[in-house]
Amino acid sequence: MKPPKKTKFIFVTGGVVSALGKGIAAASIGLILKQRGLKVTIQKFDPYINVDPGTMNPYQHGEVYVTDDGAETDLDLGHYERFIDESLSKLNSTTAGMVYYNVITKERHGEYLGSTVQVIPHITDEIKKHIIAPAGKHDNMDVVITEVGGTVGDIEGGPFLEAIRQFCLECSPRQSLIIHLTLVPYIENSGELKTKPTQHSVMRLREIGLQPDILLCRTDRPLDEDIKRKIGLFCNVPPSHVIEGKNVQNIYEVPLSFEQEDLGGLIKKKLNLRCGEPEMTGWEKFVQKIYHPDGEITIGICGKYTQLPDSYKSILESFVHAGVENNVKVNVKWIDSEEVYSRNAANKLSGIDGLLVPGGFGDRGIEGMINAIQYSRENKIPYFGICLGLQTAVIEFARNVCNLKKANSTEFAPKVKHNVIDLMPEQRGIIDKGATMRLGEYPCVLKKNTHAHKAYSEIVIKERHRHRLEVNNEYKSIFADNGMNFVGMSPDEKLVEMIEIKDHPWFLGCQFHPELKSRAVRAHPLFRDFIKAAKKYHSASKKGKTGPQTKTGK
Ligand code: GLN
Repeated sequence: MKPPKKTKFIFVTGGVVSALGKGIAAASIGLILKQRGLKVTIQKFDPYINVDPGTMNPYQHGEVYVTDDGAETDLDLGHYERFIDESLSKLNSTTAGMVYYNVITKERHGEYLGSTVQVIPHITDEIKKHIIAPAGKHDNMDVVITEVGGTVGDIEGGPFLEAIRQFCLECSPRQSLIIHLTLVPYIENSGELKTKPTQHSVMRLREIGLQPDILLCRTDRPLDEDIKRKIGLFCNVPPSHVIEGKNVQNIYEVPLSFEQEDLGGLIKKKLNLRCGEPEMTGWEKFVQKIYHPDGEITIGICGKYTQLPDSYKSILESFVHAGVENNVKVNVKWIDSEEVYSRNAANKLSGIDGLLVPGGFGDRGIEGMINAIQYSRENKIPYFGICLGLQTAVIEFARNVCNLKKANSTEFAPKVKHNVIDLMPEQRGIIDKGATMRLGEYPCVLKKNTHAHKAYSEIVIKERHRHRLEVNNEYKSIFADNGMNFVGMSPDEKLVEMIEIKDHPWFLGCQFHPELKSRAVRAHPLFRDFIKAAKKYHSASKKGKTGPQTKTGK
């Protein structure tokens, strides 16, 4: 498997500790190269044995990110898409489980008949195919950036780094580049920055035959020339290739700080890239707006994974994008859904200007979400329900407005009489848990004169899905008679994709995940309008024109 001639390959590895922001670093490198006019794509290698993260608990893994073509992937793909403003695909996400699965399937099909199947060359060859895949059929990408999950020295990561070693050897000169992200900690006792952890992690890389070309050193204080010289000497790189990755207040500033160090220029030189100067003015303006909002609002997120904000990563980032478009900073109040009862809903939701119930699975915390939604509906607090947040809004409406007292979803109460949310027919009888949901992008047709249509200004939209259940069509007419508007439907009109309710300033639920399509410089229209409605609620409440109503509305 020869490297394609026209495409250049950058590998981003990590050392010392995890959570240094390798995903953000890869996304930022992608952006600074794209802004020089290059065609760039970014992929993630995850060395775990799961075939994809789809079956993992958010507490283990954070959010599961879904691509247009329905791949369930690592949340780093979200950073890549948000930074480089390109839609990625299943080719951009590879796990060790996927690699082994492919090799073992081929072995069972007799494709290696006669040979012993081994890590080298069979697993490494399979990995090399994945390195190349995102370059496109006609090598139409100028640069493919590959981020390797985990840290150097992890047992699981070994085959990936070995495959990269082989691949770089097969590349022509100036076709591949290894950027290693490490930590340069400041030790209070001695009052010094310490380079030893970086030296050791580079040593580990060099032991397996990988010499990093550029070191990105995470640090909370400036790296002076002496430190850069010392790191360079011990790690076998010129001091000019030691880049200071200083801590910044906001992840969207990282590309700008890389450009200050001329990382783009260095990569251009090392890979002999033909490209212009970076055009970063739009991005700079965006970052300035994050730092200088006109005001603040607070959105309550009521879910069950509130202890780990990474479970709702894309939603939080969508708030940043939508906040910029509305000139406000969006603060989040985490509301643990297991703790919301009718009697304390006012207290739990106090101070919020909008409520969002995000996606989720399983029955834990569902009743609390329903209580919170009832409070926001009755008190005219802007509401945005995403996936499970649409389903719980429908259950709430069925129970408290349509008087179907025990209405529920068959996910939580399989034998319930009023199964207002039910399994989609094609989901019945499926036993496998991985990659079997309704996944990826589907079209949706919008009704005119609705918040949904106003937001998108389009009739047919496409959004990404990840769910098994849907609104039960048998209840549609009862709901409609009571004031629910089915504002977005699948083109065959069989699936409810979006709902709104009457007599409420902004109450919208969608069966898809709009947060997966919000981009840094292009906020998602639904988030933009939800934040706009929350801003309006905020100013009205400051003037005393909103706030808890005494009457329980319809
Ligand atoms: N558990 C619900 C379903 O499977 C909602 C899924 C979600 O919120 N992503 O339909």
